[in-house]
Amino acid sequence: MQRAGKWRTPRRPKKPSNIEKDPVGVYCRIRPLGGEDEECCVEMISSSTIQLHAPDGLKANRNGEYKETQYCFKKVFGIKTTQIELFEDVAKPLIEDLIHCKNGLLFTYGVTGSGKTYTMTGSPGEGGLLPRSLDMLFNSIGSFQAKRFVFKPDEKNGIEVQSYVDSLLERQKRDSQLSVPKTPSSRQRADPEFADMINPDQACKFEGVDEDCCYSVFVSYIEIYNNYIYDLLEDAPFDPIRPKPPQSKILREDQNHNMYVAGCTEVEVKSTEEAFEVFWKGQKKRRIANTELNRESSRSHSVFTVKLAQAPLDADGDHVLQDKSQVNVSQLCLVDLAGSERTNRTRAEGSRLREAGNINQSLMTLRTCMEVLRENQMWGTNRMVPYRDSKVTHLFKNYFDGEGKVRMVVCVNPKAEDYEETLLVMRFAEMTQEVEVARPVDRPICGLTPGRRQRNQAFKDELSRRLEERGGPVNGDPVQLNQLIESLPPLPPCELSDPSDDQTLPRLMEVLERRYRIRQKMAEQFNQTANSMKSTFQQFESQFSSKENVLHDQQSKLGEKDKVIANQRTEIERLEKKSKTLEYKIDILQKTTEMYEQDKRSLQQELESREQRLQKELAERRRMEQRMQGMVTDTKLKWERECERRVNAKQLELQNKLWVKDEKLKQLKAIVTENGGASGGPAEPPRKPERPSRERDRNVAQKRSASPTPLSTVPPVHPMHRRSHSAGGEKWVDHKPASNLDLDTVMQPIIPNAIKVSTPNEKALSKCHKYVLRHQELASDGELETKLIKGNVFKTRGGGQAVEFTDIETLKQEDPTAPSRKRRSGSREGPTQTDDIENRPPVANVSASHGNQKRRRP
Ligand code: ADP
Ligand code: MG
Repeated sequence: MQRAGKWRTPRRPKKPSNIEKDPVGVYCRIRPLGGEDEECCVEMISSSTIQLHAPDGLKANRNGEYKETQYCFKKVFGIKTTQIELFEDVAKPLIEDLIHCKNGLLFTYGVTGSGKTYTMTGSPGEGGLLPRSLDMLFNSIGSFQAKRFVFKPDEKNGIEVQSYVDSLLERQKRDSQLSVPKTPSSRQRADPEFADMINPDQACKFEGVDEDCCYSVFVSYIEIYNNYIYDLLEDAPFDPIRPKPPQSKILREDQNHNMYVAGCTEVEVKSTEEAFEVFWKGQKKRRIANTELNRESSRSHSVFTVKLAQAPLDADGDHVLQDKSQVNVSQLCLVDLAGSERTNRTRAEGSRLREAGNINQSLMTLRTCMEVLRENQMWGTNRMVPYRDSKVTHLFKNYFDGEGKVRMVVCVNPKAEDYEETLLVMRFAEMTQEVEVARPVDRPICGLTPGRRQRNQAFKDELSRRLEERGGPVNGDPVQLNQLIESLPPLPPCELSDPSDDQTLPRLMEVLERRYRIRQKMAEQFNQTANSMKSTFQQFESQFSSKENVLHDQQSKLGEKDKVIANQRTEIERLEKKSKTLEYKIDILQKTTEMYEQDKRSLQQELESREQRLQKELAERRRMEQRMQGMVTDTKLKWERECERRVNAKQLELQNKLWVKDEKLKQLKAIVTENGGASGGPAEPPRKPERPSRERDRNVAQKRSASPTPLSTVPPVHPMHRRSHSAGGEKWVDHKPASNLDLDTVMQPIIPNAIKVSTPNEKALSKCHKYVLRHQELASDGELETKLIKGNVFKTRGGGQAVEFTDIETLKQEDPTAPSRKRRSGSREGPTQTDDIENRPPVANVSASHGNQKRRRP
């Protein structure tokens, strides 16, 4: 939005990507054919599509290679479309935009005779887009228009607000210059050419006008001919003798980079009729110039610009706000382009050809500009658009570069001769539809309270009503004054013809006195009224001042409130900032807490798992302890038993040894006694000592302990004699001390499967069940006595072997080492004396020869 009477179209360079764009609105209007019998080559096939057929002649010429082609538009208007229908669709939104401070560009394009001028201007009773646009504009802003000269063009394409006095002075100046008092012109009084352009019941009005704004309309009208710009509203003094060719204008760029025609006349108009008048004035000038300079009107572009200035009313709602920055200017350009036909068709020559070339040049430039724009928009390229190549494009560059609504009405004459030109027109139209223009943005609101105008009007109405009530003059009406004068007594004829006339003067004096009295009365009345007025005014003034005071108070309060609000706002901002930082801190703390909690959880888990492990280990240890204790007690018990058993075994062994020794002693004793008995009497058989037995021991042991019999209680000695077993499978340890003499006698024992050892060892014992010791000694008779001491081998609990002696066999023979005996033993046939003493332990009641061969004495 641009202010201070500047054009709103924004400058070109900044193009934010988020800008909303609309394509150029392209409409198509088909005019009716000139004659009934003419060939028609354009057909409207839908509300948005037309179809072109090649005319018959052309088809024949080109061997039918021309086909039917279809073209789409935003909307197609057929031959029966009325001007109002077209206006409603095409121009009405542009007028609404104009009132909303948005710019618009509307142009007609087509071949000469296709109805461009008809569409734009129209004819009496059939007003075109231009008169209808003006009509709608004035119908909408009518009563909200500012007084003349309140807005004033600044010659630099802007419009500014004039002070109240300046505008009043200018108005008075204008009124004095005009011979005819300026009253609203009626359509009847206007030029018949533009009278009744619009049927009154077709009047359009836009209801969304901001009533708290003041509006002013300025129009300008230019013609671009041969790439020169002419001002059609310029008041150049006309010299009928030497008519001067019109001066062309130049294009300028204002401070907002908007293009404008420098020095172009801008006329402030207050009504549709006035605007028409200006338009027709320009038209007339154009026509005159064309005839005088032999120009073809179809070769010029005409641009009628409607500029709308608007500014908000002040707070009182009485005058326009004297603030330059609050003035908004929007404009609508209505362009009737020159015919788009090619040069050769116009059959122009010389300067005419040049003109046509220029027309085409400018239309060509328009075409090129559209192409480049479309290309840039479609492909994101940045090719320079050649606006400057022609005045038309240069003037409208801001519409395509900046923002605004662009609409084009393509006019088509369906006649056959125009076919080829029409094809070109269609192609251009099709391409133009793809060009996009930035959508204008809404203007911001001025900030004053709405409804100002209505309040002001209501106040004025109330004031006049009250004045009327008090009998005061509503206004200084001269008719009333005349009536007042007429109500005075009429003056008598006061011509004195006779010096002695003494009646006329006294009558006159009387009347004058009466008049004087009436006048005095009236003066008194006037004074009274004036006084009452004064008092009323004073009342009003006091009321006003009190109101003002109140207002002042309110304003000061408002100011205070504003300050408070501002303070609170800053406080709020501060608090918001604080809360933000606190939130941030809370966030951080929460995160930290979460982290700690996670840590805690994991540590707890670890603790639990460790506790579990500990418990397990403790249980394991307890179990182990119990087991160990059990084992210890077991082992203790075992060893106790083992020890006991060993002690028993040892005891037994020792007893056995003792017994053996006893036996030997007895035998010796017996031998001694035998020898003695031979000389004395028979001796008593020696009492056999009781052999130690395990049975007894066991009984003793059993008496000692009540515990169950352990394994070791198996009796180390079998109650049965071992020799009763089959001897074939038993293994013997044959213990033959190295000191033993070898006796080459057949009486010596032969033990098969015997392991012969000179000293008994554990290994040998472990392999055998039986043990025999060959014990040699010299008997008292000098013979060599060999004793075979036999026993059973037992495995002890401790893993060792024990021998339980069970049997002794004694062999006697001559000592081979003794000389006498040597001789005896040398005789093999001689009887060998062998003493065989049956000496068996009580347990060994069977004397079986189990493999032992022995010779007994007979
Ligand atoms: P251009 O301006 O394109 O050269 P004009 O507007 O001057 O063409 O139209 C040529 C003639 O055709 C005029 O007499 C006009 O009245 C008539 N005409 C054009 N369009 C229409 C229409 N839609 N309905 C009736 N008459 C039309
Ligand atoms: Mg025309």
